[in-house]
Amino acid sequence: MNDTSQILDSALSYRVPMAVTSIRGFRTLTGGLSTYPVCPRCHTTMEHEYQAYCDRCGQALDWKDIKRANIIIS
Ligand SMILES: [Zn+2]
Repeated sequence: MNDTSQILDSALSYRVPMAVTSIRGFRTLTGGLSTYPVCPRCHTTMEHEYQAYCDRCGQALDWKDIKRANIIIS
């Protein structure tokens, strides 16, 4: 594989939606739980569910598995 095709593969992989499969949960002061979806590529938490792309890395996102996502309690 040459450099050009590696760059192309990398660019394309950002445009192919990756399933969001983790949600991070934070306990609130009132004892509730705030949840934020986690980007499957850069693993940062996102402020909003169902956004088309990650704010941080630009990865296209697929939300079809979000109902079965793992919740990680911090
Ligand atoms: Zn990301």
